[in-house]
Amino acid sequence: MSLLARLARPEILALPPVDIAAQANESFGPDAIKLDANENPYAPLVEGSLADGVNRYPEPQPMALRRALAALYGVAPDNVVATRGADDAIDILIRTFCRLGIDAVSICQPTFSAYAQFARLQGARVIETRLTDSFDFDADAFLAAVAGEAELKLAFLCAPNNPTGNPVAASDVLRVADARPDTIVVLDEAYIEFSEQPSLAAEAARRDNLVVLRTLSKAYGLAGARIGCAIGTGELAALIGRALPPYPLPSLSIRAALASLAPSRRPIHEDRIARIKADRERIAGLLAGSPLVRSVRSGGGNFLFLDVDDPAALAAKLTARGIRVRFRPNAVPGGLRLTIGTDAENQAALAALGVAAGGRPSRRATAARDTKETRIAVAVDLDAAAPRNIATGVPFYDHMLDQVAAHGGFALTLACEGDLEIDAHHSIEDCAIAFGQALRAALGDRRGIGRFGFALPMDEAEAQVLIDLSGRPFSRFEGDFAASHIGAYPTEMTAHVFRSLADTLGAAIHVKVSGENDHHKTEACFKALGRALRQAIAREGGDALPSTKGVL
Ligand SMILES: *Cc1c(COP(=O)(O)O)cnc(C)c1O
Repeated sequence: MSLLARLARPEILALPPVDIAAQANESFGPDAIKLDANENPYAPLVEGSLADGVNRYPEPQPMALRRALAALYGVAPDNVVATRGADDAIDILIRTFCRLGIDAVSICQPTFSAYAQFARLQGARVIETRLTDSFDFDADAFLAAVAGEAELKLAFLCAPNNPTGNPVAASDVLRVADARPDTIVVLDEAYIEFSEQPSLAAEAARRDNLVVLRTLSKAYGLAGARIGCAIGTGELAALIGRALPPYPLPSLSIRAALASLAPSRRPIHEDRIARIKADRERIAGLLAGSPLVRSVRSGGGNFLFLDVDDPAALAAKLTARGIRVRFRPNAVPGGLRLTIGTDAENQAALAALGVAAGGRPSRRATAARDTKETRIAVAVDLDAAAPRNIATGVPFYDHMLDQVAAHGGFALTLACEGDLEIDAHHSIEDCAIAFGQALRAALGDRRGIGRFGFALPMDEAEAQVLIDLSGRPFSRFEGDFAASHIGAYPTEMTAHVFRSLADTLGAAIHVKVSGENDHHKTEACFKALGRALRQAIAREGGDALPSTKGVL
């Protein structure tokens, strides 16, 4: 008998196996006549496309989502069980392995409360051990503490740990798994994207007694969609699949997760994770100087763990200011977990914690745009010069947009999945539209900006771009190109790009270009646009709206 069959509750083994592949929609084809599930055949009465297809049940284990999660975590789809958040995976593991009143789980306090909560619901014993005084996991002490526990089925390790942020070394995780061959180590990697630790997902796909939990809630901004997963061997996935409810994941959540995991979204997720990590370190530094804070622990999560002097007084102050944090007195009496938020949120929290952190509100924005022809995601930060990371699928156009950002002096991340097999037209135009939307959003109310920009002739080719961030779209393009294409880039698209940008940015853009060489002329247009934008978006100090009308 396999290890997992030995460890599982007999009630689970008595349930019929679930044939996930046989239930997948793709095994029936897209035109299948669905008269099998007592669904209502008519579309839900919800405006727009939000609820498309919601009159049908979702797939029990949506194949596309399993594939996307598997690709994201570097394992095979058969190793993934998609669950309603990692929380649900914790519950299902406990229900699969722990018999009422007999079996036990171990937790290392202080840690995430859900492990003990679900164990108690299931009537499993909870063996509590302590992390060290500095909240590190001591594998030797742990193994000694559970040495006599023959019925220890699941050992929960949280790395990085919630609420302390401490890592657990991969070597310690594997040592526990080796030393306890009849215990399944459940490694909760809910925050691993924010840490420097390697994931053990691929190891879990190979090892009978290691399961890794991942979630889209934290790093991918999908907490409300409730999508997470357990990663283990194919046998483990099939086993816990028997304990799942029939249709655990709502269609709307599945769709949101798939859209969010599209390749064009990847660079922006990476930027955001990097920003949260940088903010975490910056805020940790500032809080070290707070008169209310005794110590600051910056681990590998999207949060800080503080030890504060007077938690009751601070709680009252934070409540009065409408700021929600988690107090964690089970870790230390003054324990407080502070999530890293937006600039404005962080500033509010810092002020409440007695740290004056001036600085102007950020001018960052993202735009996502999906059509049948293209899927695009853009992020801009008007007050940072990096990163610049542009992948439109049209190399020459990447180079042009890179010139705009470089000469504009702002950060630009843009990725597009477009129908290049047709031609570059849709990708080029739609990228300009989405870029304009992001710029417009980042400018916000346009207070304090220069508003006007202009650029002078450059190189042997002369390009002049005049811009007014007036809020009113208008574009004029004077110039011709001799060649039809530069690489895969059609020269006729340049005028299109400027028009699309003017429309979605809400700007008047006048372009004039002349010269000999089409490559130079095109490049000069984009560089001049960058220079013009640089002046128009520049903060001039003060808060004035650069308009006598009082509105832009
Ligand atoms: C937030 C969190 C989870 C739960 O994530 P969901 O996928 O939203 O259920 C799991 N483990 C830890 C340690 C967490 O902090």
